[in-house]
Amino acid sequence: MNPFEYASPETEVEALELLNDHDGNTAVLAGGIDQLNLMQLDLSAPQRIVDIKNIDSMRGTQPVGDGVLVGALSTLEELKDDPLLADYRSLGDAVEEVRAIQLQHTGTLGGDLCHMPNCWYYRNGYGLLARENNESLVETGDNRYHAILGNQGPAKFVNASRFAPALIAWGARVRIIGPAPGQEELLPLEYFYVTPRHERQGNNVLQPGQMISHIWLPSPNGMQSATYDVMQLEGLDWPLASAACALNIENGIVRDAKIVMGHVAPVPWIARDASQRLIGQPINEATAQLAADEAVLNATPLTDNGYKVQIAKTAVKRALLKAADQLEL
Ligand SMILES: Cc1cc2nc3c(=O)[nH]c(=O)nc-3n(C[C@H](O)[C@H](O)[C@H](O)COP(=O)(O)OP(=O)(O)OC[C@H]3O[C@@H](n4cnc5c(N)ncnc54)[C@H](O)[C@@H]3O)c2cc1C
Repeated sequence: MNPFEYASPETEVEALELLNDHDGNTAVLAGGIDQLNLMQLDLSAPQRIVDIKNIDSMRGTQPVGDGVLVGALSTLEELKDDPLLADYRSLGDAVEEVRAIQLQHTGTLGGDLCHMPNCWYYRNGYGLLARENNESLVETGDNRYHAILGNQGPAKFVNASRFAPALIAWGARVRIIGPAPGQEELLPLEYFYVTPRHERQGNNVLQPGQMISHIWLPSPNGMQSATYDVMQLEGLDWPLASAACALNIENGIVRDAKIVMGHVAPVPWIARDASQRLIGQPINEATAQLAADEAVLNATPLTDNGYKVQIAKTAVKRALLKAADQLEL
């Protein structure tokens, strides 16, 4: 690990000033679970670490006129117990699925949203696109955990965030601050992630010196939601595929729906046609199955991950049934 400076600001402005130094070769440290790992692997070698844990304005939740503002430093455990988030069931589901108390207590929402891919080629130093001698290592090598959707370009990794699918289904926005103090943007989370075509493009829109300070969620307005992860192991693990949905159901009929899949594509994957198919229908085994089939219609599995197509379907079907309180296992 390279030597680095350590800074611990107490305000957002101070943090931005500290991040915008060393030509932007700085990094945000939140819970530190993955950032320290990236540094140990030499995948991140910042000249300065900006530890944001002492910025009180980025903690907790507060009601705002049309929704709830959640601090990016909220830990997964805090999210689970927060009364303002009680009606966003899919978020609680996502916390429950991170089956390690240590991670739930230490990992933060901002850290989860910015968690770099777990692709083993990336983690072994081959870059996000995992290319060597102009060849995709993913295409020619072991790709059992890689993307089955959105994988036609050079990026084949899957987005690692546990919360992004649920938040996108809810129509959440991220408050991005910086690079200069005073600069800020409230961006729909669905536009935050990028499928890179070049190695230097990164996998989200954050520029050096920027960070997420808050996540805004619209009022629940009676919407029903759920997240369903399909895991290989019962213990601490990443999902093979996941799905989250938010449904507006009136008199048993779906009036509005958004289904978002996780761990199947380089970005959280919005299943627009499948969501549309549900409008005007009740949620039951048959309609949930049809929507699940539609969600993976355009899947293009690689050599070793065809099995993920069925798993992604299962995740979508069960998330829909769970949101409608009809999941029986
Ligand atoms: C060995 C290991 C095993 C794990 N296993 C699992 C698992 O099985 N299942 C699971 O769901 N999760 C797992 N995790 C992931 C863990 O839950 C997430 O890494 C955690 O939520 C990240 O939160 P953090 O606050 O620790 O982020 P950090 O490690 O501090 O940051 C992660 C990344 O996000 C950036 N970042 C953090 N906050 C912000 C912000 N506000 N704005 C901009 N950028 C930011 C950092 O610079 C860094 O690049 C594992 C992690 C590790 C290292």
